[in-house]
Amino acid sequence: MINRMERLFLGQKPIGIIYATIIILMFSSTSWAGSPYIRSAQAYGRQYLYIQDIASYYGLTLVSNSENCEMRNKWNKIGFTFDKREGMINGYKINYLFPPVRENSIPLVSSSDFQFILEPIMRTYSIPKQTLRTIVIDPGHGGKDQGAAGKKYKEKDITLQIAKKLKNILVSKGFKVYLTRESDSDLDLDMRPEKCRSVGADIFISIHCNAVGKRDISGIETFAMTPEGAPSTSDTKPKIVKEKGNAFNKNNYLLAYNVHSKLINSTGTVDRGVKHARFVVLRNAPCTALLVETGFISNSYEESKLGSPDYQEKVANAIANGLTRYGSLLLGGR
Ligand SMILES: [Zn+2]
Repeated sequence: MINRMERLFLGQKPIGIIYATIIILMFSSTSWAGSPYIRSAQAYGRQYLYIQDIASYYGLTLVSNSENCEMRNKWNKIGFTFDKREGMINGYKINYLFPPVRENSIPLVSSSDFQFILEPIMRTYSIPKQTLRTIVIDPGHGGKDQGAAGKKYKEKDITLQIAKKLKNILVSKGFKVYLTRESDSDLDLDMRPEKCRSVGADIFISIHCNAVGKRDISGIETFAMTPEGAPSTSDTKPKIVKEKGNAFNKNNYLLAYNVHSKLINSTGTVDRGVKHARFVVLRNAPCTALLVETGFISNSYEESKLGSPDYQEKVANAIANGLTRYGSLLLGGR
């Protein structure tokens, strides 16, 4: 959200032609897709980029009106709503780090969103390569910490059941897999990413269930670590500090997006979007990491699904498919 004072301030200092500068982005010549110039503008104390130029760069067409805009071609559709962080990428909900804006009729998106959201999705071959061999799965909560509780099930039990199913699937695909806990035991949050260090993990997957007072709310949401200098989805204040998990920003996002899209496709449940958070397990992860909220245990329909072995298997399969899709994209697949 942009507060009123910022808007007024911006009104006195119009951006656009006055503050616009042209930056030349250093892209490799082989990845060249369109115009090399992406103009930037300062607004709300941060750097924004012209969506029109980003569209040209990716070889997409920009369609815009006063409320929203979309960059698209035959294969991709990337949607922005001005002054709102919720967006769409190829049919799945995402949340931009900062609200895209329209100033002087120019659609703008923050340079952080370009760097940490659009680039990993649109130019997957440009993100750091990594090995994909050892996976740590983290069933949320355990022991005295039961997590959220529904009418029939506890979060700590469902997360362990899904984690075990996911482990079996990944082992059958040839991965080396560890769980942070194998039984209903207590485990400090700090110890969970620590497990990654001790086994040399390439990927950390934390599994949770959601709960909220409003019992009609349902759906899946997937979290990646918030990039430094940006606010988490539930927050509006950016944090500058760079945490351990920020070493993998682009990989984190590509993994989260692909796991999320497979989950939504395969379960057909409500899409609550790919989000950013600085959860302890994501903040301290020494490798690419994500956290999945597999559904709302506070919603009785979703609770009964989450408790069913078939649905758990479906969720586990979707996570595994998202992971292998991430792997194939890293290798240059489409
Ligand atoms: Zn939880």
